[in-house]
Amino acid sequence: MPELPEVEVTRRELHALLVGRRIASITTTRPSYFFLTPPAVLRRRLPGRRFVGLERVGKYMLAGLDSGERLLLHLGMTGEIVREGALEADRHVHLRLNFDDGRPGVVFRDERKFGKVQLLAAGEPSPRVDRLGPDALAARAAHLFTASRGRRVPVKTLLLDQAVLAGVGNIYADEALFLAAVRPTRRAGRVSQAEYQAVAAAVRRVLRRAIVTGGSSISDYLRPDGSEGAYQDERHVYAREGERCARCGTTIRRVVLGQRSSHYCPGCQR
Ligand SMILES: [Zn+2]
Repeated sequence: MPELPEVEVTRRELHALLVGRRIASITTTRPSYFFLTPPAVLRRRLPGRRFVGLERVGKYMLAGLDSGERLLLHLGMTGEIVREGALEADRHVHLRLNFDDGRPGVVFRDERKFGKVQLLAAGEPSPRVDRLGPDALAARAAHLFTASRGRRVPVKTLLLDQAVLAGVGNIYADEALFLAAVRPTRRAGRVSQAEYQAVAAAVRRVLRRAIVTGGSSISDYLRPDGSEGAYQDERHVYAREGERCARCGTTIRRVVLGQRSSHYCPGCQR
């Protein structure tokens, strides 16, 4: 499932594939929950528009158009936005953008369709984006400490709450808590300020490192050029249940918190 690093890698590489180019035509699949804006409306409004910018907010991307409209893109669980030709076209390509310069277009493929596409009018707010907390790349201990007071949820669940911190998902929450030596099961309101210092630093470090390595390609995620990320090779605990911790040799455990698998080292994390 794409998290902040995968979305940021996609944004950086997609920037060169979108910004400055004018849409000549688009093709879509039929209406579905993938399209927050009906595909017929996209087919009517997008041709002729030029992309002027591409921003990331948490796990969302917002592509600015010369009309002042914004195209919201979310990769969901299995979404991939790639240069045309980087993967084999099949029935899971729900949006294809063709440009007037004759160079290859851009396709949005999503096998499970939990991704989202929405066209926002000029000045139209997006409740999905506006409810997000501070970006996880700028995670701050004081913010986490304040947000956690009185919270009975596990600290892992707090990190996954996009209204508290935008962009962290299951993989990087587990990895950051390992680096911070804090167990994911700890009650968020009982984690100390000093521990949140370690957690915030670890969140920033894990995310930056994952961006440098191109993100994690554990399931479907591909970079816009069709290549895979490499961060999965650096995982300490995520999806390593039953393996020995590389630091202390203790067997890594898995517990389910809020219906999500959480992985930790009982030797390293308290
Ligand atoms: Zn360990």
